[in-house]
Amino acid sequence: MEGCVFCNISRGEIKTDFVFKDEEIMAFNDINPSAPVHILVVPRKHLISVKDLSDQDKDLAGKMILKARDVAKERNLDGYKLVFNVGRLGGQIIDHLHLHLLSGKGARLP
Ligand code: AMP
Ligand code: ZN
Repeated sequence: MEGCVFCNISRGEIKTDFVFKDEEIMAFNDINPSAPVHILVVPRKHLISVKDLSDQDKDLAGKMILKARDVAKERNLDGYKLVFNVGRLGGQIIDHLHLHLLSGKGARLP
């Protein structure tokens, strides 16, 4: 999708601080962290939000959650929040599906 920040990251047109990437999903550090650990797990496929998920996306959505869990485990995080913001009223600014992994002192919902 032209003009989408996360699609641009997926195509390598914008540099980012990757934590993980494969052919379906990426994880990278949030550019403006709300907590000491703030990582975004993002599918390469341009889906707008959780509202845009179809039954065909079940595996992809599950993979995003399990990747967030794995990153948290690798970092020995005791506790963390996993957050999908949905729509402007839900605090979503970037209209490309993403899962926030937040942890550390002062972790708050973005
Ligand atoms: P949301 O409010 O759920 O749409 O969150 C979007 C998140 O994307 C915010 O926490 C931003 O700081 C983050 N963000 C925006 N642009 C970038 C970027 N180029 N690289 C990493 N994170 C970004
Ligand atoms: Zn996109």
